[in-house]
Amino acid sequence: MLTILRQIIQEVSSAEQFQEALEIIVKRTADALTTQACSIFLLDRQGGEYVLVATQGLNPQAIHKARVPLNKGLIGFVGEREEPINIDDAAKHPRFFQVPEVEEEAYRAFLGTPVIYHRQVLGVLIVQQHDPRRYDEAEEAFLVTLATQLAAIIAHAEATGALAEVLTRNSKNKRHELVYSGVPGAPGIGMGMGVVVFTPFELDTIPDRVPDDIELEIQLLEAAFAGVREDLRLLEERLAPSLPAEERALFDVYQRILDSADLGQEVAEVIRQGNWAPGALREVILAHAKHLENLDNEYMRERADDIKDLGRRVLAYLQQGDRTHLTYHEKTILIGETISPTDLAEVPEGCLAGVVSAKGSSNSHVAILARAMNVPTIMGVGDVPIYELQDKNLIVDGYYGQLYVSPSPSLAAEFERLVQEEQKLDATLEEIRDLPAVTKDGHRIGLLVNTGLGADISISLAAGAEGVGLYRTEIPFLMRDRFPSGEEQRIIYRQLLASFAPRPVTIRTLDVGGDKPLPYFPIVEDNPFLGWRGIRITLDHPEIFLAQIRAMMRASEGLNNMQIMLPMITDAIEVDEALRLLRKAYTEVRDEGCEIEMPAIGVMIEVPSAVYQARALAKRVDFLSVGSNDLTQYLLAVDRNNPRVASLYDALHPSVLRALMQVVDNGHQEGKHVSICGEMAGDPAAVMLLLAMGFDSLSINASSIGRVKWVIRHFTRKKAAKLLHEVLGMENAVMIRCHMELALERAGLGNLIRAGR
Ligand code: PEP
Ligand code: MG
Repeated sequence: MLTILRQIIQEVSSAEQFQEALEIIVKRTADALTTQACSIFLLDRQGGEYVLVATQGLNPQAIHKARVPLNKGLIGFVGEREEPINIDDAAKHPRFFQVPEVEEEAYRAFLGTPVIYHRQVLGVLIVQQHDPRRYDEAEEAFLVTLATQLAAIIAHAEATGALAEVLTRNSKNKRHELVYSGVPGAPGIGMGMGVVVFTPFELDTIPDRVPDDIELEIQLLEAAFAGVREDLRLLEERLAPSLPAEERALFDVYQRILDSADLGQEVAEVIRQGNWAPGALREVILAHAKHLENLDNEYMRERADDIKDLGRRVLAYLQQGDRTHLTYHEKTILIGETISPTDLAEVPEGCLAGVVSAKGSSNSHVAILARAMNVPTIMGVGDVPIYELQDKNLIVDGYYGQLYVSPSPSLAAEFERLVQEEQKLDATLEEIRDLPAVTKDGHRIGLLVNTGLGADISISLAAGAEGVGLYRTEIPFLMRDRFPSGEEQRIIYRQLLASFAPRPVTIRTLDVGGDKPLPYFPIVEDNPFLGWRGIRITLDHPEIFLAQIRAMMRASEGLNNMQIMLPMITDAIEVDEALRLLRKAYTEVRDEGCEIEMPAIGVMIEVPSAVYQARALAKRVDFLSVGSNDLTQYLLAVDRNNPRVASLYDALHPSVLRALMQVVDNGHQEGKHVSICGEMAGDPAAVMLLLAMGFDSLSINASSIGRVKWVIRHFTRKKAAKLLHEVLGMENAVMIRCHMELALERAGLGNLIRAGR
């Protein structure tokens, strides 16, 4: 059974079209189970019905026509129960419902299993037989296993739009919008045109583009093929004396692939259909490689690597000159497999309307940056066919994490309306820009900003920030191709400190590792979030740490508004060691003649061990600051970057709330200032709870300042304490979030949650 299953899956994955894949499944399954009928019904959520999309054994004329309402018949029953149903005589079952056009009268035995992906029923896979009988356990297990594989194929088809196409083939319903779902990365609505970020020499990421001149693309292609042919000839010539005959055969294989007129012509044909040469090359090479990878023969499977290697070589020729540069639209929606801070920074000022990343989640650093820059962002869109989105009209809904491709005029008009409502809300927030963050009963809380990019300094100042609660120094490190020198660092820190003086600025020492690898300092680990990151790296490299803190201290001369903060502390010994180095740097910088005061030093509380040691840590330093992004991920054991578990990541989880209260109490017992600088502090639903816990300040993205201040100014501290007391009696984050949103709604701040809709 396992071999058959594997063969079916191989055959299915080499199918070019979704419909073809479905047909292979029904045919091969009916054969494998020696049963007379096998069919797939897929759920059309818009129409609220299951649609017959492939069958072996039922009336083929009914494909794409037969529709079973959600709650009807055995198909609906399987979907409702979310588990297999195995019956020897279907017609006698109380839920039996006859769909005349499928002509199933002759069948008695019925086994149906739901196709489920990420807890959602996508369809039902059934087998049927004339004679009444129960399918045995092995057959049931086979069908269930196949359904799990089918689920992934359907989910992919949903992402590429192929599912919608199949479901609506004979439907009276209007066209389905092409919409892809991810997780919200940064709030807001972004409307613009797609620009695909790609790695120039990675075939997989090359986007489609409409060429300016088809003949020129074909000439470039021919020249590239000739170039690779010549390179290979020279390479072979050079290696021939030392290379055994079998290895030399590889060059023959390559030359043969290149010489086969077919390959070049296939690419040229795709160019003629309207794609530029790199996009056409990607399409043809990947199709061949996929075909080879799915063959049963190991030798042929390895040829898939050869053809990809050749493809990369041809691509390298095609990418010469300025063809790797991106051309931005006036309203650019940046799309990529992953997007780096540099990609964001390279978009000309004022042109970035939205960001879509196939990987990552709302707490990935690029999402945090996008929030700081106020750019609507969607993360973890997974299966989205990135390279087809170049120059397409797109809408990014950063509130709900949805991407709309080529929206209809009516949908675009609806989103335009939402954008206008947002602008109205922003105008209201502008009115309180220069007012303090004080509750109705006079309790004041500090409202500072998180920054990292030079560009967001002016946004922060414009938003009325009282200072900087977190400056992520890794951002300037990430944007270079080597460590910045001490002097380069000093200039960056000086500009920051001077822009905000006399307001306080908290600079965090280098926090790389995890999802922030430095390109020039590679760290390869199986488990990077539990590995070498933050203070662990800088204590192991005191030369990097000392250079950085000296640069900070020199930068603060004459301003004295700087505080230094240590990330990822898990142990008091790390603090002792860091303090030793800080004192050493201070003495050295003073000895150089720099007139500075010793800056206040703080520790970030972002791992559970630091929560339980908060008092010991607070004793050693001047302030504590909770990094709730990491603290939530470590307390809940939920990777902050993994979209698959994103729904489990919620800082309003009761355990996180209790941990925060403990930190505040411990810090205050030592008489120290306690702040919070994770994304949670900018979440309107969390703000009143943090205030009630006694946090002295919140450090948030500049774009959230207006909203957070608005919340604070609408409540009393007494009411906040009551809300905290109420939520502490609740046992899950969903209830807590609903409770807090209801409180906002009642206070007339519902538009903060509904985000303008
Ligand atoms: C945090 O973990 O909450 C934090 C502020 O640090 P970062 O997001 O940079 O890891
Ligand atoms: Mg952190």
